[in-house]
Amino acid sequence: MNLYKLSDKIYYSEYEQERDRPALGYIKGDRFSIAVDSGHSDEHVKEFYDLLNKEGLELPSLTIITHWHWDHSFAMHAISGLSIANRRTDRYLKDFISKQNEEYEKQFLSWDPSIALEYRDDKPIIVKQADIVYDGSLRIDAGNTPIIVFEAISPHTDDASLVYLPKEKVLFFGDAISGVFPTWEADPSLTRGLVETLETLDMDYCIGGHWPIYTKEELLKQLKESI
Ligand SMILES: [Zn+2]
Repeated sequence: MNLYKLSDKIYYSEYEQERDRPALGYIKGDRFSIAVDSGHSDEHVKEFYDLLNKEGLELPSLTIITHWHWDHSFAMHAISGLSIANRRTDRYLKDFISKQNEEYEKQFLSWDPSIALEYRDDKPIIVKQADIVYDGSLRIDAGNTPIIVFEAISPHTDDASLVYLPKEKVLFFGDAISGVFPTWEADPSLTRGLVETLETLDMDYCIGGHWPIYTKEELLKQLKESI
């Protein structure tokens, strides 16, 4: 796994297909740092923190979760600092915890080979609800680095949070651009809703979970072609 530097304030890790590990974001404010997504498991977040340590970057005080899916949220128990999610994401996590037993965990591991691989050798599945839950939108200033976290329409899930940095002109969008798991079918009206949101944002770069980095134009072109 590599760590990529987009600017003095923005970093992101390499994504991995085999274990479906998404790119994890890192925002370096003047006062504190924020991560975008916690990762697939404690192993994933530990590897990410090792990369931050190697770069001399302090561990995040906050971790924003882009949506409830396991590969983005199931390392929440192992993060440094506190986690933030919207209310829907938090409810999905609560729902998973309420169903969790041996049988349900077996089912979970069969949802996708990448999950079985991440949780091989009976690795415990530890799910946690968010420390901070927001509705609608949330503004955070990490020190000369304003961040707007907001709920958005997405064809992937109904609990998408986008993480927008107006000063840096960067967006972290999680998996918001893809269709639903596991068929990846996208409802065109939801994709249209997402396009309308993205068009309003003044941004140069867009960083998602499982794709190379996009410019705004590239991302919008791809989404419009998919409708
Ligand atoms: Zn997802």
